[in-house]
Amino acid sequence: MQQDLAIFNYLAEKLLEAEKQQPVVKPIPAEELYETLDISLSNEPTNEASFKEALEQLILNTPRTATKLFFNQLFGGRNPKATLGDLLAVLLNNSMYTYKVAGPQVGIEKEIIKKVCELVGYNADSDGTFPTGGSMSNYMAMVMARDAKNPDTKYKGVTQKMIAYTSAESHYSTSKNATFCGIGREQVRHIAVNQYGQIEPQALSQAIKKDINLGHTPFFVNATAGTTVLGAFDAIEQLLEICKEHNLWLHVDGAYCGSVIFSKKYKHLVAGLEKVDSFSFNAHKMLGTPLTCSILVTKHKKQLRDSFSNDAAYLYQTDGDDYNLGKTSLQCGRRNDALKFWTLWKSVGTIGLESYVDKQFELAETARDYLKSNSDYTLYSFDNSISVCFNYKGIPAQKLCTLLYEHAEIMVGFGSFNDTEFVRMVTINYGNSSEDILHFFKTLESFVAKQPIFFDTEVFQDN
Ligand SMILES: *Cc1c(COP(=O)(O)O)cnc(C)c1O
Repeated sequence: MQQDLAIFNYLAEKLLEAEKQQPVVKPIPAEELYETLDISLSNEPTNEASFKEALEQLILNTPRTATKLFFNQLFGGRNPKATLGDLLAVLLNNSMYTYKVAGPQVGIEKEIIKKVCELVGYNADSDGTFPTGGSMSNYMAMVMARDAKNPDTKYKGVTQKMIAYTSAESHYSTSKNATFCGIGREQVRHIAVNQYGQIEPQALSQAIKKDINLGHTPFFVNATAGTTVLGAFDAIEQLLEICKEHNLWLHVDGAYCGSVIFSKKYKHLVAGLEKVDSFSFNAHKMLGTPLTCSILVTKHKKQLRDSFSNDAAYLYQTDGDDYNLGKTSLQCGRRNDALKFWTLWKSVGTIGLESYVDKQFELAETARDYLKSNSDYTLYSFDNSISVCFNYKGIPAQKLCTLLYEHAEIMVGFGSFNDTEFVRMVTINYGNSSEDILHFFKTLESFVAKQPIFFDTEVFQDN
């Protein structure tokens, strides 16, 4: 092992240096991948030197998500304390299903869940788990909602037309999850949003009534805290009333921006959260832990158990259910996703996490201020969002983003709202400074200035 740890240290140094020198790696076209890198596997072993060389080339040619020019997805940067925690989790290689096998790591996970429940405002009847990501958190919430509506479902399967509601701007996992738990995609209603990308409570209410009149069984409403494109927050309080009236489970998908629970300044964006049935957020998004680190909490500890526990004499041989976390998880063997979040939280405290969240909103404000002050840009996103959506000189966003990627200038993606496509820059890397944000725009502008052939702006403005 020591020998491989030495290789690890060598490669880590190389990577950190390369990230500084070249924040965006030149992409290898997918069709040239196998000719460019030594990836193929063979019958014979590889000698140590060529093994190390192959690994080095692989690592140096992999997209760099921790640098100051990565704005492509809803994660970015590298928190050293969280990375340390994850490296140790790999080294320890426990499975989180039982206390016998995971020991104090169980306590780590339970401590985080307890603290998160407190922050949400749940009482002692609450509990939670670490699913494998935001999509799976949403899935587990949907399963609990289905079973809460009709406990027989666990044994008999879905026998009614059960209907789920989510906004047109919500994450695609809701539809996918409906297929997994026997609800079916056609039973997911995508409710209209207002101009800010928030679900329209009136439209939701009408849709529910219509389904009831048709004899269907509404059971689940998914609200979003930070929609994937615009970063919009659905108004939870209004949805609570509707859910109460019709006895529906309300889940808040906070995968992207649910971490606002750590911020005194931004917690108001999820006002009413303590009354929702379940809530999830991804620490690997706003809080910068390595992928994946998703936390699902519910007000109904019993429902979590009822939906996910299964007796297994060969597995649960010691200790009470409260310490055998396999009783509340989807899978059996489960990776330790808690330790990296604990090392982070332990080291910077709750106020440290709060400062990370606040910083991202400040960076977004810096970006929006810059865009508003420069008439070459059109801004599409709103205050209280860390998704900064814009177009530059009328250049089609997809074309701009692709060229920036191919030329190894910037990693940034595009999205659309109301049929307008735009660049979506996400200020989720709290390691960035205002200067880094301005550097992003300068890099983009000088790239465009260098590409007169690609960017005949007159032509685009005519479109
Ligand atoms: C990222 C995201 C998800 C999915 O989370 P994964 O961890 O990628 O599965 C779900 N909902 C929203 C709003 C997201 O932004």
